[in-house]
Amino acid sequence: MALKVVVLGAGFGGLELTTLLSEALGNDLDLTLIDKSDHFYFGYSKLDVMFGRKTADAVRVSYSNIAKPGVRFRQEAVTAIDADARRVTTDGGTYDADVLVVALGADYDIAATPGLAEGGNEFYSFAGAERLREALPKFTSGHAIVGVTSTPFKCPPAPSECALLLHDYLTERGVRDSCQISIVMPFGVPIPPAPEASKALMAAFVERGITFVPGKLVRAIDPAKHAAILDDGSEMPFDLFLGVPKHLVPDVVAASGMTEDGWIPVSRSDLKTKYPGVYAVGDVTSVGTPKAGVFSEGAAKIVAASIIAEARGTASPAGYKGDGGCYIEFGAGSVGRVDVDFFSGPSPTGSISGPSPAITAEKDEFGASRRRRWFGLSE
Ligand SMILES: Cc1cc2nc3c(=O)[nH]c(=O)nc-3n(C[C@H](O)[C@H](O)[C@H](O)COP(=O)(O)OP(=O)(O)OC[C@H]3O[C@@H](n4cnc5c(N)ncnc54)[C@H](O)[C@@H]3O)c2cc1C
Repeated sequence: MALKVVVLGAGFGGLELTTLLSEALGNDLDLTLIDKSDHFYFGYSKLDVMFGRKTADAVRVSYSNIAKPGVRFRQEAVTAIDADARRVTTDGGTYDADVLVVALGADYDIAATPGLAEGGNEFYSFAGAERLREALPKFTSGHAIVGVTSTPFKCPPAPSECALLLHDYLTERGVRDSCQISIVMPFGVPIPPAPEASKALMAAFVERGITFVPGKLVRAIDPAKHAAILDDGSEMPFDLFLGVPKHLVPDVVAASGMTEDGWIPVSRSDLKTKYPGVYAVGDVTSVGTPKAGVFSEGAAKIVAASIIAEARGTASPAGYKGDGGCYIEFGAGSVGRVDVDFFSGPSPTGSISGPSPAITAEKDEFGASRRRRWFGLSE
């Protein structure tokens, strides 16, 4: 009998896992991949959309392209997860699994930051990025703040990338001299586990006249005063606020009772939850790596190896190292890569490559290779 696997969420984690299981098990697999959306997009494409570098349609990849042995995609919203019974309810039916994998990512709680919806903007949701694409051309002078409201948040380099790309955007429009850019971050440096990458980003900020405000969170926006209220009570007036909203698990995950302190706890070595036959990967977990696609993908590789080993009765695979390489846009078409390893040593280590034209090309190939592997698309 084919192994019945149900994967919830077709993001980085769900897509990589589905691909690996299909490659290894083929028709010995009976996998249902469920997502409420009809398309995928890379997290970083929100920056492309926001700054008008690509259209929304150009960055969407339809799930209708998924055609893999042993795999069926269902566009349905998951409405309940019974982890004990490995049973999932959606708006289209009920699914029972031998192996259940929760890869539902992180949602946003915009209302958790008072005033953000009324007086600011967020660039972390696709809709937020699309709204900013319309709003940004109207910003021609004054103070722009890129601000983080809460931790943890996806892709720690993204706020830095946003500030650097905003510099380019304003420069290209000839208004940079009449604008100030500040970035408010909860850390002392942009990427704490990677000192060299942080140094490179800080140098890029200095070079471009971007003010880095370390060790602070934006707690609220005062729409009447056009001011960001920081966690030390101080106020920063702004003319444009680009926020990173509070993150949380999707409602259905919170209601499932699988979370502790807001996220699904998993074993660091194999991503198993405390429920037999149930794994969780990616942003929805508290595994201890940053919330980023490359880490979701890395975790999915470990889960795939574990499921395949159990199906074949072979030895357990090597444990998860929590390592990954994230691309960082430095502006002017220049991309670097920060490689971080969270679990191999006593503390996380990180290094930077580039920015260089070679890494810019590597990022393009990163996206293209996922489109090929996950969706069978040649371009
Ligand atoms: C501006 C920005 C830039 C980024 N840049 C990078 C980068 O350069 N590199 C990088 O590695 N990461 C980057 N990220 C982070 C990256 O996008 C996420 O960390 C990654 O997508 C997480 O993968 P995941 O599989 O855990 O979850 P996701 O990719 O979020 O997938 C979760 C899926 O679950 C689905 N879902 C949720 N709830 C339900 C439900 N109830 N029913 C059905 N389906 C549901 C969603 O539709 C979604 O498709 C960036 C993020 C942002 C916001």
